[in-house]
Amino acid sequence: MNNGNGVYCPICRSAFAEFEEHGNPPRANARCSNCRSLERHRLIFLHIIQTDSLFKKTNDPIKLLHFAPERVFYNIFDKVPGITYTACDLFPERYHYYKGNTPIEKVDITNIPFEENSFDLILCNHVLEHIPDDRKAMSELYRVMAKNGDGIFQVPLDYTREETYEDWTITSPEEREKAFGQHDHVRWYGKDYPLRLQNAGFTVFEEDYASKFSTEEFFRYGLMPTELIYHCKKTLP
Ligand SMILES: [Zn+2]
Repeated sequence: MNNGNGVYCPICRSAFAEFEEHGNPPRANARCSNCRSLERHRLIFLHIIQTDSLFKKTNDPIKLLHFAPERVFYNIFDKVPGITYTACDLFPERYHYYKGNTPIEKVDITNIPFEENSFDLILCNHVLEHIPDDRKAMSELYRVMAKNGDGIFQVPLDYTREETYEDWTITSPEEREKAFGQHDHVRWYGKDYPLRLQNAGFTVFEEDYASKFSTEEFFRYGLMPTELIYHCKKTLP
């Protein structure tokens, strides 16, 4: 039984005694029993509803590009009026169980088939650590972002590393799991992650959004203390 009112998922608006354990090693208070959101989803969602203009009424629809669309977000963005929503992945067939009106388009992030300056907001979370030529991917994200557009590009980041760790002699899934934490990751990003984004043209802002919450709220929303949000802006005159 997990009835109760100790935690609240802002995404699906459900309350429980606690979130479920999740991960390896298991993290307490991590996964929503209803929508399956994790800490990182709830953090970004809270940020989006509290500070971004996605859910505010504007005259022009907001053009949103979403890579590797997380289901919890897809289900919302698919239905919000005022968003022109483009969802995509290199392997759209993996999303066959998504039941929305927005198709998942097949897109290679290193060769994005959209025009420059197209999207007001781009979400690309937990994607770049899979991409061998992530610099090309970053420059493509920059190209298709609208002038003064915004992006949130989260990656798993090892804050004990000054420099990103890559080793192109490591190619098997087993070795990659050992070296980079997951069988299909090709690097561990370090503290130089924002620099790599800056080199692609972005103005980067590392926001410790989680620290804005009280200890009680922290538990209530099931957040993680170490996760910064990486905002990437295309600032052009
Ligand atoms: Zn939920």
